[in-house]
This record gives sequence, structure tokens and C-alpha cells, in this order.
Amino acid sequence: MKAIFCSVLLLAFNLPALAAHPIGIVIHGGAGTINQAQMTAQQQQAYEATLRHAVDQGYLVLEQGGSSLDAVTKAVTILEDSPLFNAGKGAVYTWDETHELDASIMLGQDRNAGAVAGVTNVKNPILLARAVMEHSAHVMLAGSGAELFAKQQQLELVENQYFNTEFRHEALKRMKQSQQALPHQAAVLQDPNWKMGTVGAVAIDKAGNLTAATSTGGMTGKRFGRIGDVPVLGAGNFADNTSCAVSATGHGEYFIRYQVASDICARVKYKGITAKLAAEQVLAELAYVGGLGGVIVVDKAGTLSWAFNTEGMYRAMRGANTPTLVEIFQSTKN
Ligand code: ASP
Repeated sequence: MKAIFCSVLLLAFNLPALAAHPIGIVIHGGAGTINQAQMTAQQQQAYEATLRHAVDQGYLVLEQGGSSLDAVTKAVTILEDSPLFNAGKGAVYTWDETHELDASIMLGQDRNAGAVAGVTNVKNPILLARAVMEHSAHVMLAGSGAELFAKQQQLELVENQYFNTEFRHEALKRMKQSQQALPHQAAVLQDPNWKMGTVGAVAIDKAGNLTAATSTGGMTGKRFGRIGDVPVLGAGNFADNTSCAVSATGHGEYFIRYQVASDICARVKYKGITAKLAAEQVLAELAYVGGLGGVIVVDKAGTLSWAFNTEGMYRAMRGANTPTLVEIFQSTKN
């Protein structure tokens, strides 16, 4: 009897250790010159509805005991399938009026990762990045090789025109016109309608595992097989269970040079500062050298946050103690 009583007591005291980790997910749909004056109520509603749907669907996966890997995959595929964002359907145009897509996914548990660059016919590049991680011996595949692998993996393939949208085509035309006066990319950045639109998600599951996923069409008018920060691990995407998971959006060249995503997690790990502060520090330093964009972060304790140095960033979060929050413009929250 005494023995049973003792084991019941032991079990009760051990319960907190066995308790599920607080779950949470944060998503983004790009940063840039996004302000209320340039957006109709209808457009705002459409963005908010899609962000809400994606974050809630991702959260549902976590709530049902699914992995953070499945949660971010779910959220990012929803955003890729929406023409509103610069990833999958709705990807920006290259200089040659085609689309070349980049994506990556990374697990915090063992830093396993998959990335793809410059793919032209894969409907959901995030699924290809995941397949690279799960079913290949490699971490990053590019171009036609990546597409052959996608075919072997029986992923859905589409014609490049599938990614076409009229408003992205207009953006390319505007960029080409201003190109005469401005150097490459400066023309994009000075466009008042400039919105980066890359999508991403970071999440933590009941087991305490972090995952980060990011997908993009890159930057309008990119040339010469340009690859951005998104498939470069540590730049636009990073996850490590000992610190945090980060997905970025912004002027990729800067994010590569400053290793933005892994720098944020390194500050959390080695300086012991909060993920929010680390993200704000890195984004402020980036703004100082002219690098614009934003990040979403979840740390190993499940704290959800974001930071950006642009006018706005499409974003949403939901956690165990955070009801769904969707924001587009500047705000003081989180
Ligand atoms: N970071 C992306 C790139 O440079 C662009 C974006 O975030 O919209 O490819």
C-alpha cells in the first residue's frame, strides 16, 4: 500500500516534466512599403483573411499533437497557393518575365534541413524543400536538378505561367521603366508599391521542437540566376532547439551578408537576451547599412515575436496563451 502511495506521489511530482510544451506558430507574408493609405478595405480584408486562415490551420496541426514541421508546412503551402503573396502562385517576375522560386525548411531538433533554389515548375516549393530534407542525401538542390528530383518525388508540377499575376507583371514593367534612372534593385525599393511578399512560418510543438520554413519568388526583376537569402540557411531561415527559429523577409542580399536568422538565434543563445530584443537589434543594425525587411521568431520557451524595419509586414501569430493576432501595419504589440 505504502509502495503504491509513494509511486502515485512520485508520478504527481513528475507530472510537470511530462506536461506538453506550450505550442505556438508565427507566420509572415512579406515586408515593405505597406501602409493603410495605399490599401483598399477590400485588399486589407483579403490579406487578413488569408493570414488568419494560414495561422489557424497551422495551429490546428499543433493542437492536435502534430509536429511543428507539419504545422509550418501547412501554413506555408496555404500562403504559397494564394496569389496575394510573393511565393508559389503570385511569385514576382524575373527580368526575363519568368518565375524562379526559392524555399527552405529547417528542424531545430537536429538542424536537419532542405533547400531549393531557382525552381520554375514546382507548384509548392516548400514541399520540395521538405522532400530534399527527408528523401535526399543533400541539403540544397538548384534548377533543373531540383526539378528532376521533384518529378521523382511525384510532387505537383505546373507550367511556369501558372505563377503569373497581373499586378506582379505591372511591378516588373514599372521596375524596368525606372531602371533607366536607378541601379538595379534600387528601382524596386523606391517603388511606392514595393512589397516583398515572401512567406514564412516558425512553430514550436508539444514536444518542444522548433521548425522554420520560408518560400519566395525572390525580388522583382532579378537576373542572371540570382538566388536570395531564403534557401541560404542561417540567412533567411534558421531553427535550433537550443535558441529559436526564425523566418525572414527582406532584401535578400543583406540578409545573406549579415546572416540575419542565425545571428538572432546566436544572440539569444550566447548573450542570453530575449528573442524579441535580438531580432530588434539585428534589424536595427541592418537598417543602418540599408538592409530592409523583417523577421518572425519563436524561441525554445514558446515565446512568439516579430520585428521589422519597414513600414509594414504581413504577419500573424497564435499560441497557447495568445489568441489569433493578425497585423499588417506598424504596431506596438509584440
Ligand atoms: N528575401 C527575399 C529575397 O531576397 C525577398 C522577400 O523577402 O520578399 O529573395
